[in-house]
Amino acid sequence: MSEIHKFLFDGLPVRGVLVRLTDAWTEILQRRASASKAGAYPLPVQNLLGEMVAAATLMQANIKFNGALILQIFGDGPVKLAVAEVQPDFGLRATATVIGDIAPQARLSELVNVGNEGKCAITLDPKSRLPGQQPYQGVVPLFGDQREKIEDLSKVLAHYMLQSEQLDTTLVLAADDKLAAGLLIQRLPLEGTGNLAGGQRNEDEIGVNEDYKRIAILAASLKREELLTLDVDTILRRLFWEEPLTRFEPLTGDAGPHFSCTCGRERVSRMILGLGQPEAQSILAERGQVEVGCDFCGAQYRFDPIDVAQIFRKAGDVPPASERVQ
Ligand SMILES: [Zn+2]
Repeated sequence: MSEIHKFLFDGLPVRGVLVRLTDAWTEILQRRASASKAGAYPLPVQNLLGEMVAAATLMQANIKFNGALILQIFGDGPVKLAVAEVQPDFGLRATATVIGDIAPQARLSELVNVGNEGKCAITLDPKSRLPGQQPYQGVVPLFGDQREKIEDLSKVLAHYMLQSEQLDTTLVLAADDKLAAGLLIQRLPLEGTGNLAGGQRNEDEIGVNEDYKRIAILAASLKREELLTLDVDTILRRLFWEEPLTRFEPLTGDAGPHFSCTCGRERVSRMILGLGQPEAQSILAERGQVEVGCDFCGAQYRFDPIDVAQIFRKAGDVPPASERVQ
């Protein structure tokens, strides 16, 4: 079963999260494999997407935010776009658009960062967003300070956390066809009396906190192979046996990560409305119906001429602003 484990290092400004996605991850792969058009992901894409889903789940578990966390990578390689999306209840979905051949051992740069144009974006989309309000988005390139290509998603995200949140973060990510897993260790910003007593701002603490540095080195020693094969208790004991940990009740089952898609007929209707009537009519004339498939879950939505007419009639019920009686 998919699970999230949160923990604190007693008395130290450091916290951690460990996730293991089993059924939530394999359902994403199965749905993709059974989709007639696209078919199963090439291995390197599968593993990248798995790491993205694990990372997005770690980050959603690590923040107090009532909305979707969307992790996207887009670039100039054969993977045009990869998306992992996690809701506050840990309903999650993911998809990747692959155009062109993928070498069996392709690295991150060969997938999405061939000409160093690849980017990683993290979007926080609040549940109760007002009309016209933009979701918060942060973007980082897939290269380091010397424009050297970064080959590990974990390093890209650590870089992002440092830039956008001013927080030291260490991630270890791994995925195969059965499991997507990740470990996140983060230095907590000093709060309340801690700040007053020390008289320090959070930025002054970046990269210098000895407790964080020691724990980060331990965390980074976790090998992908271990993350994919060992259970949570064994991982935490092996890494942090000398550190006093407080662990929280794991989030699993109904409260834990699970596959869930937010698509629906209503949303597709709004999309068709957005096309405009002439465009919708020309699709109908050509194909007899408007058919839209969801890339995330494989659902197919079909609208015949009567359905399409209804969409535009309903919208027509609301008179345009200029005709409204003031
Ligand atoms: Zn869907």
